[in-house]
Amino acid sequence: MHRDYVLTINGQGRSTDDAVEIRNPADGSLVGLAPSGSSSDVDDAIAAAAEAYKTWRNSDNEARKQVCATIAQVLQDNMGELTELLTREQGKPLKGFGSEFEVGGAIAWAQYTAAQELPVEVLEEDAEKCIELHRVPLGVVASITPWNYPLMIAIWHIVPALRAGNTVVMKPSPYTPLTTLRMVELVNEKIPAGLLNIVSGGDGLGAQLSQDDRVKKVVFTGSTRTGKRIMAEAAASLKALTLELGGNDACIVLPGENIEPYAEGLFWGAMMNSGQTCGAIKRLYVHSDDYDRACEVLSSFAGQIPMGDGMNSENLLGPIQNEKQFNYVSELVSDAKANGARVLIGGEASGDGYFFPVTLVADISDGTRLVDEEQFGPVLPIIRYRSLEDAIARANNTAYGLNASVWGKDAELASRVAGQLEAGTIFINKPPQLAPNVPFGGVKDSGVGVEFGEEGLKAFTDIKVISR
Ligand code: NAD
Repeated sequence: MHRDYVLTINGQGRSTDDAVEIRNPADGSLVGLAPSGSSSDVDDAIAAAAEAYKTWRNSDNEARKQVCATIAQVLQDNMGELTELLTREQGKPLKGFGSEFEVGGAIAWAQYTAAQELPVEVLEEDAEKCIELHRVPLGVVASITPWNYPLMIAIWHIVPALRAGNTVVMKPSPYTPLTTLRMVELVNEKIPAGLLNIVSGGDGLGAQLSQDDRVKKVVFTGSTRTGKRIMAEAAASLKALTLELGGNDACIVLPGENIEPYAEGLFWGAMMNSGQTCGAIKRLYVHSDDYDRACEVLSSFAGQIPMGDGMNSENLLGPIQNEKQFNYVSELVSDAKANGARVLIGGEASGDGYFFPVTLVADISDGTRLVDEEQFGPVLPIIRYRSLEDAIARANNTAYGLNASVWGKDAELASRVAGQLEAGTIFINKPPQLAPNVPFGGVKDSGVGVEFGEEGLKAFTDIKVISR
């Protein structure tokens, strides 16, 4: 396994004097040493990206497509190394909705984005005049990523930025930098120097990127708290921003539903990546008459799903990625118990690593921390409601607005409920599913702007009107 992880600046690998040990959350074993980049490394990376932009901004459509297709190919060619590294660093299993799923998704996104087009639009044309709308790149884009899907989210940021003619400086999460560092190193063997740079290190490097005048846009995925800081840091230089932030997604099962056919979708909708998914189901609302049966069915499904070291291909769920998050999830469950909630399954961590068992919590309601806060772990509160109006009001009673979902056979009623839910995407009868052609983004405190699809690509451009 490759062990010398380096920053990449202007196409060159760079080691640092200091490095941080990255340990496997499943067993504490050393995965690798992550370089601790300094402020001058960030400065050099921005300078390299700004210099490369002078040429790249004039590149033609084919050259841009080619670079993006090359990234997809590099992922494909190195799938084995990247998936194993991702499992060891992040904890998610190789199988199921794990590392192979994540790297496979990254390839699909890179391929789709490589083939996207942003043609010139003719807004008016007649004998006297012609008004055209062109899409031009912004300049240097900073990408700041979280620890839950480190590789896929990096690709979501990098590829549309390059496709639109920008250059990039990345800063991965301090918890999971290795897979991203390695991917950028591999990509740089195949693309022109300076287009894609990466500096790993502490949170301060992200703040530096957000403040630097030469950076024209920040694309950020992470917590709402950090997103707000970035917006403030970026204000002085009026940067463009895409902020994909946290969520506390509500799921409403319509009254009178037998939950059995939905159990698998509901389970994975909440528990994929052990619940460490921004758009996962985080609160489940079930009608009082159907409540006991729903608790029974979900508990029995949940009890069959193996959790353990992700390198063992039988496991479908892994540990929580880091100690801080593990402690937070444990705290929310303890608080729920102290407030009289009933644990149906799980509830107590045991053994090595940051494993927290799949936990379903009943007899709990709004006003409890586990319901009101974003748990970001394998724990799901199941909440009883008596009227659909009340369930909708409670689902909307949050600062977040990423996704929501409605489950039930009555298609008309489901659509009516979907129309009243406040979120960027509402799923009906399916768990959250993202796609490269479908815009994705949150409302309220879940974010600003969207990624994916035509809208997502346009977010990496400025408009330029030529009017004659
Ligand atoms: P985080 O906000 O703690 O960190 C994310 C990144 O921001 C890291 O790289 C960190 O070093 C950097 N950072 C920290 N302080 C900064 C600052 N002041 N300026 C600039 N950068 C700074 O988030 P996390 O804990 O890594 O990720 C979990 C959160 O991400 C959850 O809330 C989850 O919902 C959210 N998330 C959202 C989406 C989405 O698409 N909406 C996807 C995945 C995760």
